[in-house]
Amino acid sequence: MNLGFHGADRGVTGSCHLVECAGKLILVDCGLYQGHREIEQENAEPFGFDPASIDFLLLTHAHLDHCGRIPLLVKRGFRGEIITTDASRELARLVMLDAAHIQEEDAAHRARHAHHAGREAPLGPLYTTVDAIDCFDRFGRMAGYGEPIDVTKGVRATFVDAGHILGSACVLLELEEAGRRRRVLFSGDLGNPGRPILRDPQRPPRADVVLMETTYGDRLHRPLEPSVQELYESVRATFERGGDVIIPTFALERAQEVLYFLREGVERGVLPASMPVFLDSPMAISATEIFRRHPECYDVETRELFRDGRDPFALPGLRITRLASESMAINEVTGGAVIMAGSGMCTGGRVRHHLRRHLDRAQSSVVFVGYATRGTLARRIIDGAHSVRLFGDELPVRAHIHTIGGFSAHAGRDDLLAWHRFVGASETVLVHGEDDVMHSFAKRLEDTKVVMPQLHDQLEL
Ligand code: ZN
Repeated sequence: MNLGFHGADRGVTGSCHLVECAGKLILVDCGLYQGHREIEQENAEPFGFDPASIDFLLLTHAHLDHCGRIPLLVKRGFRGEIITTDASRELARLVMLDAAHIQEEDAAHRARHAHHAGREAPLGPLYTTVDAIDCFDRFGRMAGYGEPIDVTKGVRATFVDAGHILGSACVLLELEEAGRRRRVLFSGDLGNPGRPILRDPQRPPRADVVLMETTYGDRLHRPLEPSVQELYESVRATFERGGDVIIPTFALERAQEVLYFLREGVERGVLPASMPVFLDSPMAISATEIFRRHPECYDVETRELFRDGRDPFALPGLRITRLASESMAINEVTGGAVIMAGSGMCTGGRVRHHLRRHLDRAQSSVVFVGYATRGTLARRIIDGAHSVRLFGDELPVRAHIHTIGGFSAHAGRDDLLAWHRFVGASETVLVHGEDDVMHSFAKRLEDTKVVMPQLHDQLEL
């Protein structure tokens, strides 16, 4: 029995772990590396194993850094079975298709540049839309929370609610080989308890070995309620000035969460019932549809809303704009609207058009509700840039900028520690975190041997 590390080692993206047991190879997640150019170049490197030799892939959740290399895995020969929850299967299809589309567009852009510069054409896309569609046939059995699946002889998997995004799970593997038994738990990404819509992370089962994420292993989150109030306050103040509110929005989870809070604001009378809210992101619109189909993933309050025939993501003034022409028509609105558009870090997508129109308007505001990594347009604005470059023009930043920090989808340090104590593992593998964060988290762990693997390391189970 053996565990191999092929991604998210000493970094937060590219999750990919390989279990070898009873003559079978089982992969847990196959995510994309995301970030600056050097990190993304890792995606094209060999996996560290032969994709054709993999028998099963267990997917913890549908974020790109956990499922985004699956089309490449299939392109390079993987023909095994993908096992995940129903909601993750639906979301992963959407995420992989969107990623393939972006890869194709980026490759075409690079080719045009090379052509103009008289250089040789660079490499094509990492994978195409057709490669992403090829993955759909690989999805097999569906996992229900708490229901063990006999993956193959000697390997039983149980998906446990991780409370991170719709369909997310921790995966417990009960392994048996030549009379030896080991319980190995993969945390996937762990949710931040106390948020609406989803249930809190479930208490984990006990295990001998735990492999866990450490994204926020060195910090505590701000409480949610003050953040929600801050959101309402920024909307009200902007409307009083006669401006519009731009919210750069991640399509999965954050978009639905913001809709949920805006609806509550209207129902509580804190926000005007007549305010137009534009959901201007085809990906977020599709994701919201998938959310509506999976009430089995919700917490008690949200399930009750559905039972009473109410939609937790619907507002009186909600307008969804799938078509580019509908998106452009938003420009005719002047004052008093909330515009939610992707991408969350403003690296692409429709939000850049709305920023071009509103960044230099002192009445308007831009409200950031998610994480923005270094080097992105969102980060430059958050860090207080007086002007930014957009579509080739230098644009002054006159709009009010709000950064609301309490909406994290990841567990903070103390919740991670409490989760770890419940598992009671004698051996702990830390992944999915920055190097310094992991070391600081490791110092707080007691009664366990801690391993922080490097890429392609192996661990005997
Ligand atoms: Zn995640």
